[in-house]
Amino acid sequence: MSLNRQLAHHTWSQVAALDKQQGVVILPIGAVEQHGHHLPLLTDTLIATRMLDAALALLPNDVNAWVLPSLPYSKSNEHTGFPGTISLSAQTLMAVLHDIARSLADAGFRRLAFVNGHGGNVALLEMTARDIRAATGLICFCLQPALFVEPPFPISAEERRLGFHGGELETSLVLAIAPELVDMDKAVRHYADFPETGTPLFFFAPASTAWLSRDWSADGIFGDATLGTAEKGDALIAAGGQKLADLIRVISTFETARG
Ligand SMILES: [Zn+2]
Repeated sequence: MSLNRQLAHHTWSQVAALDKQQGVVILPIGAVEQHGHHLPLLTDTLIATRMLDAALALLPNDVNAWVLPSLPYSKSNEHTGFPGTISLSAQTLMAVLHDIARSLADAGFRRLAFVNGHGGNVALLEMTARDIRAATGLICFCLQPALFVEPPFPISAEERRLGFHGGELETSLVLAIAPELVDMDKAVRHYADFPETGTPLFFFAPASTAWLSRDWSADGIFGDATLGTAEKGDALIAAGGQKLADLIRVISTFETARG
């Protein structure tokens, strides 16, 4: 029988009885933010939750991993100006994560992992994870599937470089997860016209520019959404689920060198 890994489906006394010496609690983090005219606001939450579900299905019962309800709001202010985007400030999101971490530490858990579905959270989560480690003693991990899942199908150099929001990959994923929420008639192709500066200054680079979506895309899209298919989305979920499962297995018993 497979375990119920949803921590919030347990009672408090069941949680009290869990073996917390080994094991990790996982918080999926999504967003409610614009993803162009064809994808729902909930895109990042759907993706993080589904990828994690795929990973959990692959874990053997002797791996202690429990999942919290997904946090649907995060730091989405790069999409400010697009109606429906709901953004927490950096300060608010950090405070929420600290409070969740403190509650878990108080319950006796030793490890916390974020599974992040929203690119705008990357820097904040890494910083907050370290703060949580220092403040609570929890061993804290940031798992960012968009940064480590290699698409198991060919992808153009242009899409790889410029397709980071609502493009081929995210469109494929939502087509696989919730096709009823996608309107492919409204899918567009947009590659941001970033100036050639002769330096590696870019959206994501060691020398970067602080970008807002509306500065570079009228529709809110970065990438070619017309290339999205459910088959590609299924392949991404399978690849991402396997990678995540491998990581969860390792971090569930991970110890620091000096305790
Ligand atoms: Zn997204």
